[in-house]
Amino acid sequence: MKRTEIKALLQEAEVGKKVNVKGWVRTKRGSKNVAFVALNDGSVIHNIQIVVDLEKFNENDLAQVTTGASISVDGEVVASQGSGQKVEVVAEKLEVLGAADPEKYPLQAKKHSLEFLRDIAHLRFRSNTFGAITRIRHSMIFAVHKFFTEEGFYNIHTPIITGSDAEGAGEMFHVSTLDPKSPPLNEEGNIDYKKDFFGKETNLTVSGQLEVETACMAMSKVYTFGPTFRAENSNTTRHLAEFWMIEPEIAFADLEEDMDLAEKFIKYLLQYALDNCMDDLEFLSKRLEESEKGKKADEKSMELIEKLRFVLANDFERVTYTEAIQILRNSKPNKKKKFQYLIDAWGADLQSEHERFLVEKHFKKPVILTDYPMNIKAFYMKQNDDGKTVRAMDVLFPQIGEIIGGSQREENLEKLTERMKAMDIPEEEMWWYLDTRKFGTAVHSGFGLGFERLMLFVTGMGNIRDVIPFPRTPQNAEF
Ligand code: ATP
Ligand code: MN
Repeated sequence: MKRTEIKALLQEAEVGKKVNVKGWVRTKRGSKNVAFVALNDGSVIHNIQIVVDLEKFNENDLAQVTTGASISVDGEVVASQGSGQKVEVVAEKLEVLGAADPEKYPLQAKKHSLEFLRDIAHLRFRSNTFGAITRIRHSMIFAVHKFFTEEGFYNIHTPIITGSDAEGAGEMFHVSTLDPKSPPLNEEGNIDYKKDFFGKETNLTVSGQLEVETACMAMSKVYTFGPTFRAENSNTTRHLAEFWMIEPEIAFADLEEDMDLAEKFIKYLLQYALDNCMDDLEFLSKRLEESEKGKKADEKSMELIEKLRFVLANDFERVTYTEAIQILRNSKPNKKKKFQYLIDAWGADLQSEHERFLVEKHFKKPVILTDYPMNIKAFYMKQNDDGKTVRAMDVLFPQIGEIIGGSQREENLEKLTERMKAMDIPEEEMWWYLDTRKFGTAVHSGFGLGFERLMLFVTGMGNIRDVIPFPRTPQNAEF
């Protein structure tokens, strides 16, 4: 018999139908005459209940039907007696495909902590929480490509190994095939990268932006969605050493249009989640509520689905950096010295605590901060006429802080190279990037959305390690 997936089986709920289901046992409980097996195959958060009549099956048949085992069941779909699901399956034939020794299988039917699940990342797909996250993650990846396709963008695969280290977005991981114990040396006694695999020094990319800009200057609307790498030792709940980033780039468009795109894009993704992932969102919402049970009312986060709807219903607040500094300087936590980093002068880089104050306490909705001081931003950002700020924008979200960083790009060759000189960025290495400003330059803008930061928001999870299958963080590259 052809296998029926549990999602389809529950949706169709065809009483009387003979089916085959396969999956992994979540729990088995029983009474004198009957055993109930909760079976899950990953297609949906819900389990199908298998009813096993103990007159037809003996103890031996069921001995290996334990949590974690994979089984195949032929049986009949019947209306469910209990609450929960509409239908269940009465087993007629039952086969254990792969046993899971209960003495050794680490995932038991009880609730496990997220920390414990991280240590068994290869098995955590079998937990309700990570199953839900996995399905939502897939939906969001699909929605990203759907959005840009509908908007007339082209997807560009930018390189993962890069020969330029000028992006300035963070520390990089070196890529080399030289023998670290005895690398070839040049006349000056330094490592001779001419002898390395690519004939030059190479790294894992921190961003696909510079390359995607070159595609933009021909295709008009492009985006890259790929892995990016940062060798920063920042052990926070919002940073990974390997994460996925979505970077659109639009030609003939200024910062206003860039912000409009960012807001439309995020809202599209949230709406897509509400329209397509409700079962999983409801599960995660309950999970969040339970995990916050002990907290005081004002420390609790907004209910997950309500929070997504709230963001959809409100315009993001657009504020300049200079206005934000005014607000922060006069804020209670600044005056009472509650911020770890106090804001006194214009020019300070904003920390996560400041971003969250603006979003969660002051404006109480997502905020787009614009026109940051030139000195704390990348070389390629469009310089304002004031000579001290650039047309940058960061989208700030509750609980997360920065979810998007973007800007209008400096399209003027002289201004761009002047800035590169000031920042010690070698022009020779960036010849190909500068060509975009030499040949048919145009106003253009773009941004980067950290995919896992988006996932944090959509799922309500508190730690970025729990929204990517195999997190890479300092001191951790297991699996
Ligand atoms: P932050 O200040 O939060 O460290 P950033 O300013 O270094 O971020 P950008 O270089 O602007 O980040 O990258 C664009 C986006 O990529 C950010 O808005 C964020 O969503 C995401 N991002 C950046 N660094 C990380 C990281 N280490 N792990 C996961 N996502 C990240
Ligand atoms: Mn940024």
